[in-house]
Formats: sequence, C-alpha cells, structure tokens
Amino acid sequence: MAGIYIHIPFCKQACHYCDFHFSTSLHKRDQMVAAICKELELRKSEMVETVQTIYFGGGTPSLLTIEELKTILDTVYNQFHISEAPEITLEANPDDIIFNEPIDGQSQINIFEAYKNIGINRLSIGVQSFFEEDLKLMNRAHNATEALACINKAKEHFDNISIDLIYGIPKMTRERWLENIKIALALDIPHLSCYALTVEPKTALENFIKKGIVPPVEDDVAQEHHKLLLEYTEASGYDNYEFSNFCKPGWESQNNTAYWQGKPYLGIGPSAHSYDGNARSWNINNNPLYIKKITTGELPMERESLSKTDKYNEYVMTRLRTKNGVSFTEISKNFGTKYLEYLELQMKEHITSNFLIIDGENLKVTKKGKFLSDGIASDLFLLNLE
Ligand code: SF4
Repeated sequence: MAGIYIHIPFCKQACHYCDFHFSTSLHKRDQMVAAICKELELRKSEMVETVQTIYFGGGTPSLLTIEELKTILDTVYNQFHISEAPEITLEANPDDIIFNEPIDGQSQINIFEAYKNIGINRLSIGVQSFFEEDLKLMNRAHNATEALACINKAKEHFDNISIDLIYGIPKMTRERWLENIKIALALDIPHLSCYALTVEPKTALENFIKKGIVPPVEDDVAQEHHKLLLEYTEASGYDNYEFSNFCKPGWESQNNTAYWQGKPYLGIGPSAHSYDGNARSWNINNNPLYIKKITTGELPMERESLSKTDKYNEYVMTRLRTKNGVSFTEISKNFGTKYLEYLELQMKEHITSNFLIIDGENLKVTKKGKFLSDGIASDLFLLNLE
C-alpha cells in the first residue's frame, strides 16, 4: 500500500512562523491545477502499488474550488490503482470553509457535503489556537469564533476530523494552553495534532524575536505545555500514537502512519517530497518554474539515494516518536547485526537515565524522555558503518 501527497502551494496570507512553500498570489491557480494533473500523469509509472491514502496538504488546499479538487482527484483515479476504501484527507483553514464567500456559488453549508461528494473523507483543520492573542501573534487568517464554528459545522457532516494546535507560543500562559486543550477535548473529535512552536530561519517570527518585538520561544514552557497535553489527552482516552498526534482508538491517520512505517509515497506539486523505499526526491519550490517545466514535460526534481545508514537513522528517528518504538527484530532483519549492536551500545545511557525503556522486543521512549525524543534519537544515529 502506498500514498499520494498533493501540495497546494497557495495561502491567503503568510503565518509568521511558517517556512512551508506557498505563494499568496493566487492568479496562476488554474495553471497550477493543470500542472499538478500533468505531473500525476508523468509520474504514473513511479507508483505501481495500490494507493491507500491521498492527502491534500500545503499551503492551503481549501483555497481550491470543489471543481479544482475534483479535477485533481479524477486524475489520481485515472492514473493510479486506488484501494476500495482510501483515506482522502483535505487540510482546510477555518476561514475558507465558514462564514466567507460561498465557493463555486454553493451555499457555505454545502461546502462540507461537496467535499464528501468528491470523495474527501477526512478533514484536517488548521485551528492552532482558540484565542485571538495567539492567532494574531501567528498572523493566522481566521479568528477564534470562526475556528469553533467551523469545527462544529464540520462535525455535522464528517466523522473523521483532526485539528492542529500549537503550544509554546510566546506569551501563551499555562492557563491559556490548558484552556485550548480543554476546548479541543470538549469538541469530542477523534484526532488532534499538537505541535510545539519552532522558530524557523528567515521567518517573520525569527525576525520579530531578534528585534525584541516578540519574546523568545522558551523550551521549558513548551515542555510544560507538552506535559499538560499528555496528562489531559490520556485522561480523556486519547492515544498518543506519535509524538505530536493523539487519537481516539481506531482513528489514527492512515497517511501519517504509513509515512512512519516507511511506506512509499508520491509527492506531487511544488516542493513536495517523495519516497520510493530507496531514494527521496523533491520538487522545485518555485510555482512559476514548476508550472513551466511540467508543462514542457520535464520533472523539476532532485533526487537522493539513501544509504543503509541513512535509512537506519530515519528509521530510528521516526520510530522513536511513535508509541511502538524501535523494533530490535526489524533492525536486525533490515540492517544487520552490526547496526543492532551499535544501537544496543548507544541506548544504555538513556535507559539508565530513564529516557528509554525496553518493552518486549521494542525500544521506546518513556514519559520522561518523550519531549526529548528527537535529541535521544540523534544520540542513536550512525555517521557511517559501511
Ligand atoms: S496557512 Fe499553513 S502553509 Fe499557509 S502560511 Fe499559514 S501555516 Fe503556512
């Protein structure tokens, strides 16, 4: 089973913390949709596996009309073998699907039904916070009222809903984050993705912090927020199946799970990344150039083959973030004894410090080690064993 990721590189406005690829100029939208469809055709032979997940990410996919989304989905179905019950996710921003101008002349309410009618069966809503102060600081295009109204409307039409929240935001108090968690839990939706705010290079947020306009992002505050998150989600029956992801039993994101399991996926659209089991490739992150090259039949991508060591490092990094952790059997089977011995040597110190624990034939991070899992994983990395 495999996945297709489609990057929609447009946003209404630039969120201050964001370093994803997008343009706020939408005037080439029709050309972009045509180019995405052409890329799907050009890369048909790269994906022979049955496709189980289709994911519209971005950028802001909810800026596309129903007709545009349908055109892309029809092309996916025409070019690839799709499973009988695929998971089809659309990332959506609250302001696009509530209160605003009707899209395609349809009523606002019908937008949800229209999504369902073209096959979308999972919504991932970019809420980030239920408080104006946070939304303004991040320069989100929606307000708190729209976020709540959007989720409540979405619930009338969709079961499979996820929302994104961000913690560790400058000036976000413990109480405000706790209130965010409580609001999210009271909404009773099956999936939450919660991320610690990171200050990416060359973003407006980095600039504001450097100039002292915004206070810095504090690691210990984020860690405290993370602790609250674990406590409250666990008490409400959510499973923290990956560091940033929480779900009610049976509502894991199939798309994300496949990614963490190292399954192949095809990334379509500017800046999208692909993985075929042996190499990673990534498309150019420039909208006009992407359209120009694809239109002439050229794939504007770079490719990097992964060595065994690269694959081991990625395996350790992604698996340690998941609840099942690293499997000793898989390390031995996929990488060999030398790698297993190296892992067993490196993990000792973290086991003594109670950051890692051996559970059956798996190595997992403990509650204490969870927030530090990326750092712990990098201590288990190899530079080169070959
Ligand atoms: S809407 Fe999403 S992709 Fe667009 S700028 Fe904001 S965070 Fe980035």
